[in-house]
Amino acid sequence: MRDRLKAWTKDLMMIPGLSGHEGHVRRHLKRELTNLGIATKTDRTGNLIATLEGDAGLPSVMFIAHMDQLGLIVRKIEASGLLRVERVGGVPEKALPAQQVLLSAGNGRTVPGVIANKSHHATTPEEKYRVVPYQDLYIDCGFRNVEEASAAGVNVGTPIVYAPNFVELAGGRIAGTSVDDRAACAVLLEIARAAKDTSKRPTLHLVFSVQEEFNLRGAITAANVLQPDICIQLDLGLATDTPDMSQRGDVRLGAGPVMGLYSFHGRGTLNGCIPHPALVHLMERAAAAENINLQRSAHIGALTETSYVQLVGGGVACIDMGFPARYTHSALEVCDLADLEGLARLILAAVGQVDASFSLDRDDYVE
Ligand SMILES: [Zn+2]
Repeated sequence: MRDRLKAWTKDLMMIPGLSGHEGHVRRHLKRELTNLGIATKTDRTGNLIATLEGDAGLPSVMFIAHMDQLGLIVRKIEASGLLRVERVGGVPEKALPAQQVLLSAGNGRTVPGVIANKSHHATTPEEKYRVVPYQDLYIDCGFRNVEEASAAGVNVGTPIVYAPNFVELAGGRIAGTSVDDRAACAVLLEIARAAKDTSKRPTLHLVFSVQEEFNLRGAITAANVLQPDICIQLDLGLATDTPDMSQRGDVRLGAGPVMGLYSFHGRGTLNGCIPHPALVHLMERAAAAENINLQRSAHIGALTETSYVQLVGGGVACIDMGFPARYTHSALEVCDLADLEGLARLILAAVGQVDASFSLDRDDYVE
């Protein structure tokens, strides 16, 4: 399973897919699912959806893994041919200068570029420790003027992502671009592969969503159409086992999948998720049965689409499940393949435990 997950993750990481521009990723996933014999459809928002019919008497389960990644978009082309940019998603400005980027110039064309970093020889002592706001950054693609940029297909609104990159580190760990959330897309492929030929399970809706990094909006339309009883988001969990993160929690890379017990982001009153107790119990039971170490996470600052999906219809029982990741939203995010495997095994075991005795009645769970 690990080799399969690695290959799927690597392939997906090498495809550019800025929020709102996920077409290449979607077509790739569609091909992979077709290869598995699974039919898909694409909704108007751009979500790729596959349904594996199961026992209609059991609560239906919708999984979400987002296809999109954060990045930049061209705001203005200077007379010099240098590009000014706008942010798309939670872009870490201090990790931008001197990065290689890739622009999608239409019809499958790509244009490489570099985010400028002021020549060190001309950097003043004050500038040395200052983060340059993105408004002051520019991208150099080699163009000498506006005409050269236009001729290459680069215009206002052209999507930009970190140059796709996949690096194998020691001990089954990987680094690169868009580990968030292509690694979870790979996990969802594995879930599809393993679940497609079983019928003694609930109906599973697999949603590869769009525009999560932009503003958690893609999966809402899918949930409105699918009306699931349960929604499980697969995304990263913050690893806190580095010196700069240790106060935030106790999530270790390579120590198993992560269950989100609390998330919130102060930028919007609806932004957060407190999981349904039935799903917390379900994951704990599945982890115990499979001998999987289940890590727990509860902190603010990170969010997923469950924030909004939980409010669809009469309410959807939601939980965030993930794999630990380091250096999130940088061009070199790190995760451990063992955690991806653990997450897939845990979810498959949990799905198997959604049987006739499983209840979503909150009064069945004592706090
Ligand atoms: Zn994500």
